Amino acid sequence: MVVRVPRLIQVFNVQCVMCGRAAGQLMNGVFVPNQRVRNPVPGKNGSRCGECGGNLYLEPDESVTPFMATQIAAQRTAAQQQALASNNPENLRAA
Ligand SMILES: [Zn+2]
Repeated sequence: MVVRVPRLIQVFNVQCVMCGRAAGQLMNGVFVPNQRVRNPVPGKNGSRCGECGGNLYLEPDESVTPFMATQIAAQRTAAQQQALASNNPENLRAA
């Protein structure tokens, strides 16, 4: 089975200004946590680094590997199925 992947995927690295760890990536609006780093924690002005509590910033990243793209596609499919299951029209088009 071949998973079709859109050619253009908007990817941002979610990085900590303090320790430089990548908390994860934002792919097409979906946050994909880095499994080797603790999940970001909610703060007053947005999420903070789960390791040191530093601010997180988004860094554009255009290097998406086919493996990552496949993961994104799987997540999108899951999200769409959830949207259908919950019948929530807001989930269909976030952007
Ligand atoms: Zn940090």
